[in-house]
This record gives sequence, C-alpha cells and structure tokens, in this order.
Amino acid sequence: MEALELASFAHIVFFTGAGLSAESGIPTYRGAGGLWGSYDYESYACQRAFDADPNKVWDFHDERRRRMAAADPSQAHRIIAAVGQSHPSVAVVTQNIDGLQQRAGSTDVIELHGSIWRVRCACHPAPQEDLGVPLEPRSCPGCGLWRRPDIVWFEDPLQPEPIARALAALETCDLLLSIGTSGVVYPAASLPEIASRRGSRCIEINPEPTQVSSWYDTHYREQASAALSALFPAFDFG
Ligand code: NAD
Repeated sequence: MEALELASFAHIVFFTGAGLSAESGIPTYRGAGGLWGSYDYESYACQRAFDADPNKVWDFHDERRRRMAAADPSQAHRIIAAVGQSHPSVAVVTQNIDGLQQRAGSTDVIELHGSIWRVRCACHPAPQEDLGVPLEPRSCPGCGLWRRPDIVWFEDPLQPEPIARALAALETCDLLLSIGTSGVVYPAASLPEIASRRGSRCIEINPEPTQVSSWYDTHYREQASAALSALFPAFDFG
C-alpha cells in the first residue's frame, strides 16, 4: 500500500461509519456481532418505540452510553485527528454517534446522525450536552416531559445543518477516504457518490466489499487502523 502525500491534496474528507469504532470495542450495526442482530431496531431505535415505551428505549441507550464511555479512541481515530491537525482542510463526516473521534482530538466533526451525548425535549429543542451514564433524570426538570437522545433514529429526517456542511465538503474535496461503513443507510450512504462523480480520488477502507464499492477507485480490505497506518505512516502511533 502506497503512502499518501498530504500536500498533494487541497481538501480531504474522511467519511466514517460504525466500523471505525469496531476496534474500540463498539459493535457495528450490521454483519457478524452487529447490534441489529440482537436488537430489533423497531423496538429500540425509532420515535414510535420511544413513544410506546421510553424507559425500554432509554435502558438500551444507557447501555450503549456505558459501553461507549468505557471505550478508548482507536489508532484509526487518532490518525484521523492527527491528519486534521497537520493539513489546512480536513473534514470528518461521520455517521457515528459515539463521540470517539472528538475524544481522539478532532475539533470539527460533522455528525450526520447526531450524538448519544446530547439530549433534547419538547420544551428544549436545542440539543444539550449530557454525559451522564446513565442519563439522569430521563425527564426534563423544567417541563417534566421525556428527554430523548439527539440521534437520528430510523424514520427520522437528517438535520439540515450537518447535511449542508457535509455536502459542501464533498463537493470540494479531492481526496475522500470512506472507512467502516456498509453504505446501506440512506441518505447518508449516498453522499460519497458526489465526490466520486466529480473525479476525486476515492478510497474505501473496509474488510468487506460494500454495495457502494464501485464508487471508489481504490479498496483496502483491511481493518481501519492497519490501513490508515500504512496510508499515513508519519502518524502511525502503534
Ligand atoms: P454498519 O454496521 O452498517 O457497517 C459497518 C461496516 O464496518 C461494515 O461494512 C463492516 O464490514 C465494516 N467494518 C467492521 N469492522 C471494521 C474495521 N475494524 N475497520 C473498517 N471497517 C470495519 O454501520 P454504518 O455503515 O455506520 O451504518 C450506517 C448507520 O446506520 C449507522 O452509522 C447508524 O447511524 C445508523 N443508524 C443507527 C440508528 C440508531 O439508532 N443507532 C438509527 C438509524 C441509523
């Protein structure tokens, strides 16, 4: 695998999914050991489930918070953060809700699917950070209504602000690295095609082929940390 010369690119985008956090011990959603193999998302990750049984949905998300809080950023998260600190134009567009990329040192992360570390309620539509494990209290002290995680559940629309920022990044990048995403959850999955159609250099890092592999000119069928260490040897902290 040939190392990438950072100075050769004007605008770099890392587009990341659950596989990026797999080496931190956070289960992916699909595939072997995937979350949706054990949990029916219609019972745990949609507004209808929350309306029907908010405590059950919060029990599930509190367990996810506990696991994510106990995890450490991987070498892959740290390399992405280091590239961001060493190049003038790097955007991280993530589908992950775990906050690990920020904990690795990235300061500007576009969260397409929100964050499990923010909550909102009917009387506080602006999301508020809450790092409690478990979340306490589950209802808003002000209005008494349920607080819900600020994540894009199934059947929720994407938030316009992160989508606009992601589009702007993908419309200008000349290097796209997609890492650890199956490319099956739309509309997020469609975003990398913008860079591919513009003729940007497009690299997919995933141990498995995906439904969108044809958008990428180069494929590394490896774990995220191994591939990024080889592509950016100056930032190999291993
Ligand atoms: P995914 O589970 O569908 O795919 C993970 C991918 O990572 C797989 O292709 C797998 O081969 C790859 N992978 C596994 N280990 C890896 C490693 N070490 N290095 C590199 N790649 C590795 O996850 P996704 O693509 O992120 O799924 C899309 C989105 O669907 C999720 O991000 C999530 O936001 C989402 N979603 C979640 C909810 C929710 O409530 N939690 C709701 C709606 C949508």
